[in-house]
Amino acid sequence: MRKPIIAGNWKMHKTMEEAVDFTEKVKGMVPSSAQVETVICAPFLFLDRLVNDVKRYNVKVGAQTMHYEEQGAYTGEVSPAALKGIGVSHVILGHSERRELYNETDEAVNKKVLSAFQYGLTPIVCVGETLEQWENGETNEHVKSQVTKALQGLSEDQVKSLVIAYEPIWAIGTGKSSTADGAEEVCGHIRQVIESNFSKGAADAVRIQYGGSVKPENIREFMNCPNIDGALVGGASLDPDSFLKLLEASA
Ligand code: PGA
Repeated sequence: MRKPIIAGNWKMHKTMEEAVDFTEKVKGMVPSSAQVETVICAPFLFLDRLVNDVKRYNVKVGAQTMHYEEQGAYTGEVSPAALKGIGVSHVILGHSERRELYNETDEAVNKKVLSAFQYGLTPIVCVGETLEQWENGETNEHVKSQVTKALQGLSEDQVKSLVIAYEPIWAIGTGKSSTADGAEEVCGHIRQVIESNFSKGAADAVRIQYGGSVKPENIREFMNCPNIDGALVGGASLDPDSFLKLLEASA
């Protein structure tokens, strides 16, 4: 059985004070680690503090991107070694906002995924189609290509331990989520792609999240789908009560 994983993606929200206040309210209330894996992906600046604040609780802390090199002349970037060094456990890679706004290519995402494993970080690899691709019926083909390229060169065991987030771009931050049936179909397709690229064992073990306007009111529909193992949540992860409701509905 795959353990559900709920990850909050705070994007560029909150100040340090607000971040600390959030974790104070949430950390003692999260379901047990046997029920659900809980991750908060916060801006770089807050990560060190948050890792220390949630140390004894069932909350893991993730970054929202990283560079693939260990170090170097990359002004403004943060390395996997630096993240690992402060106790960060997860990293979102290839989020559609990074792909669109910061020109993150499939090749770069692949380098980052390989690098994350080298430094003991668990990647949450994001894939998903544009509205146009969705309307043209190109979703499965596009997502297959993204998954195949992102996971190139990984071992079967590495694939088993990572997380894929299927996020249709048209559903992100729009309030217009995919239907549960639509999301389930694409997540099932992703599992088939993993099976043909790696093995049945890898396909059965890899956890696939749905993301895109997930909120307490609709998360159960997604969690009830056999191929959906969790959610990557933006807007609805910012409020402590809302985040706790998402966790409760998934436990
Ligand atoms: P949203 O964002 O929940 O606000 O739609 C999801 C994401 O971008 O990860």
